[in-house]
Amino acid sequence: MNNTNNEGKQDDKKKREKNRINWNSIEEKWRDKWEEQRIFQADPDITKKKYFITVAYPYPNSPQHIGHGRTYTLADVHARYMRMKGYNVLFPMGFHYTGTPILAMSRRVASRDKELLETFDKIYHVPTDAIASFVEPRKIASYFHNEIRRGMKEMGFSIDWRREFSTVDKIYSKFISWQFRTLRNKGLIVQGSHPVGWCPNDQNPVSQHDTIDDVEPSFNEYTVIKFRLNDGYIIPTATLRPETIYGATNLWVNPNIEYVKIYLRDKDERWIVSNEAAIKLRFLDHKVTIESHVLGNEMIGILAKNPVTHASLPIYPASFVDPDSGTGFVMSVPAHAPYDYQALEDLKNNILIQKEFGIQFEVKPITVIGSDDYSGIDVIPSKQIINKFNIQDQKDTEIEKATNELYSHEFYKGKMLQNTGKYAGMSVSEAKDKLKNDILTSGDADIMFELINKPVKCRCGTQCVVKLLNDQWFLNYGNVKWKYLAHECLNDMEILPEEIRQEFNYVIDWLRERACARKTGLGTKVPWDQHWIIESLSDSVIYMAYYILAKYVNDKSINDADDLKDTVFDYLLLGKGNVVEVASDCNISAVLLEQIREEFSYFYPVDSRHSGRDLVPNHLSFFIFNHAAVFDRENWPKQIVVNGSVLMEGKKMSKSLGNIIPLREAVKKFGADAIRVSMLISAELLQDADFSFDTVKAIQSKLQDIYDMGIESITNSSRSQIKKANIYEELEDRWLLSRLQRTIADTTISMDKLRVREAAHNIIYSLDHDLQWYEKRAKAKNRERASVEYTLLRFLNTRIKMLAPFAPFISEELWEKIDNSSASITFTNWPTVEETKKDIVAEESEQLIMNLIFDLHKIVKVTGINPKKIIFYTGARWKLKIYYKILSIIFSEGNTNFGDIIKQLIKDPETTNAKNNSNMVKKMIEDILSDPIETRKRRVHLENFEERLPIEDARKLLAFESGGEDAEVLIYSEDDTTIYDPKSKAKFARPFKPAIQLVNQ
Ligand SMILES: [Zn+2]
Repeated sequence: MNNTNNEGKQDDKKKREKNRINWNSIEEKWRDKWEEQRIFQADPDITKKKYFITVAYPYPNSPQHIGHGRTYTLADVHARYMRMKGYNVLFPMGFHYTGTPILAMSRRVASRDKELLETFDKIYHVPTDAIASFVEPRKIASYFHNEIRRGMKEMGFSIDWRREFSTVDKIYSKFISWQFRTLRNKGLIVQGSHPVGWCPNDQNPVSQHDTIDDVEPSFNEYTVIKFRLNDGYIIPTATLRPETIYGATNLWVNPNIEYVKIYLRDKDERWIVSNEAAIKLRFLDHKVTIESHVLGNEMIGILAKNPVTHASLPIYPASFVDPDSGTGFVMSVPAHAPYDYQALEDLKNNILIQKEFGIQFEVKPITVIGSDDYSGIDVIPSKQIINKFNIQDQKDTEIEKATNELYSHEFYKGKMLQNTGKYAGMSVSEAKDKLKNDILTSGDADIMFELINKPVKCRCGTQCVVKLLNDQWFLNYGNVKWKYLAHECLNDMEILPEEIRQEFNYVIDWLRERACARKTGLGTKVPWDQHWIIESLSDSVIYMAYYILAKYVNDKSINDADDLKDTVFDYLLLGKGNVVEVASDCNISAVLLEQIREEFSYFYPVDSRHSGRDLVPNHLSFFIFNHAAVFDRENWPKQIVVNGSVLMEGKKMSKSLGNIIPLREAVKKFGADAIRVSMLISAELLQDADFSFDTVKAIQSKLQDIYDMGIESITNSSRSQIKKANIYEELEDRWLLSRLQRTIADTTISMDKLRVREAAHNIIYSLDHDLQWYEKRAKAKNRERASVEYTLLRFLNTRIKMLAPFAPFISEELWEKIDNSSASITFTNWPTVEETKKDIVAEESEQLIMNLIFDLHKIVKVTGINPKKIIFYTGARWKLKIYYKILSIIFSEGNTNFGDIIKQLIKDPETTNAKNNSNMVKKMIEDILSDPIETRKRRVHLENFEERLPIEDARKLLAFESGGEDAEVLIYSEDDTTIYDPKSKAKFARPFKPAIQLVNQ
């Protein structure tokens, strides 16, 4: 016995090894076929509905790694799904060269930057001679451009490569120039002075794409209040809470640092600030001359005049004062700022410092804001919150939290108290604006911008600052009419997942003027001001339209950039002008112009835009703004899909962790299908996907199983030459096909909302689960039933189609063998539900058998019986009547109250005996409530269900599962007059819960 078992296992193993898929060779075969048959090339076809899907084009400054793969794979799965739904899908790809990243990289190569050279060599495996060529920025771009394109092909992305372009192509520049002139003509590009994130080394504005770790520099506007000293010098303090000035008791200086006395020529004022602040002020366009230096501790005890209350406030020492925050001085408002309160407490308790600096300590907090939680002048809100957070001293990290909590509480709920002059009684938010305006007007205050997420580092390694940039070109996203259009565009769009819509609304409201040009970098010059280059988040917002033109540029129908005047773009993309006139003004024929215009009208608008979540606050929002501004309403985008990022084995990917795996390397090792599925099966859209090699291996082996089973049933079915007419469907066949319809329905809903984790899970795991049950049932019947091949083949046929968008290579390979034709699975239809195959009786029957096996296992385990007889008792008629009545009360009325239910049962003559069986009723209610809704729904339609039939059908399996393979299976109804019931078990039977008796003799 043991011996044959082992042999069997070895046979299996051999078979496995023989069939072991050579993933890479299957991939190569299908890549060639797809290319040969041009199946991803999409041209207008008026007989078909179109679907235009795009994904943010990559920066070719490194090869794509696993982290990049998710967005592109998702877009590709989407594209393949829509093709199977019968759409003419256009999925193109371009390459974004614009900006400083590539330039910065070439400089680092030229300076032999060790870290970068090592990354090229050790992580990306770039050949040495190629690295040497990287001192030229274009060489970097074209090397990685080719690398990424190869990787995308190897991943099986169904891209129409005829439309490829890069953003430094001459004709693309013409297109961007047109876009900019169009925006300017609409008054949406303005010249002015605005604060921007800035790299002092590159002398260039910076945004997310220009910084290390892709951080968008964000800054806040502070009010700088001027406290005057007797000698005419000003101590400026930067604050977000100017309204608390009435509660100022002192100023804070850091005793351990050096300050500078400066002259501001633009204001004709002399200030004392930290060194760092002096530098920041220069970037904010102040003309600063440093006149002398002074130590922090030299200023302790000096009195400064509050410009609003005219009180003289002493300067005290505090270690929490950061020279790089604001001006290096802090206005102390102990009643409302926990830091200040705590610093005063610390000072009060430190006699040594008091003595050292000769401080006469006499300061008391002044409360100037009241609210529900902290009311009255004698209450000190910051003291209370410090107690709440149990803060020990000013170095305690909890102070930050306490500060934020109090600030936002007072901002939303606080009112100015009687001691705040003309602001008394105002809400804090109102007083803040009024007071700020007043002191700015009186010259007692100034504005200062400060980075709030520093340090932000430029890709060149330099720390970024805020610069007030003059005469710079800005896209005016603050324009109210433009915002309105952007909202309209967003409102008509589908956002997946929907929960991210709020973030878009917020960003659209919050965006202001945005610098759209740079001094250096690759890209298109601002058409009317050649000193500037259009930056990368501004030349990448409507390029989806360019994919239509790119086809004609690449096949040389259009080859002279000079031909592309604005009138040409106006005609092609906006339908403006007369084609004959437009043609007479350039070297493009009217016929060709009309053809391109038609192609644009066919494919536009964008039906789906895919991108990573980090691009919501910039790229994706700009995409909305710019489409709304440039295009007619009918060409506004229809959908945005946002996905989260990818973790590697639970960790963020980073060079320092050494866990960046280039995509092509992974494909070579595990095959594209396994990588694709693994990326999508671990998370829904917004969640971070956790990529792990264990998952990839598990998926690879699952795909191998599907392949093996597929080959086996294809081989068997062709051997047995099944004819449909001869097929007799047994209970388990009906069940499997019915379950399949459910999976089709569920998976289609998931795919329509791009809940791809759920969809992939259905196709790979749930269907497997069903298949295993089917095989178990069929196997137990052995020769008593007809061949399983017909059902298995139908099952496989549907499963392969649903798998095709996720794992296209292996699906094509199997499909070729099933279909025997050369047509790609791409052009078969996505499966639809066959209503006639839905079979609730079969589903209920198999569920009953599964439940009985579960019960049998339990009984055998408890009793240890090796049964000779297995007796099943199904419930009496009257129990069924009561059961269905309860079910209908719960189902249609939603009433689950025992008292109400039993009242209704007793009232009905058919079920009036419920009165004497209240325990049974209670149990039935519990049964029903513990069933899934789906089961309840099904049973409503199953009033004539015969429990006896499935038990009979599965008698061999039931015997086998209880360990008595040869045991006799007996079935009685509780009502049977000839019932054999030695242990009085039948009375425990309930509908869908037959009672069981095992007999050992
Ligand atoms: Zn820089």
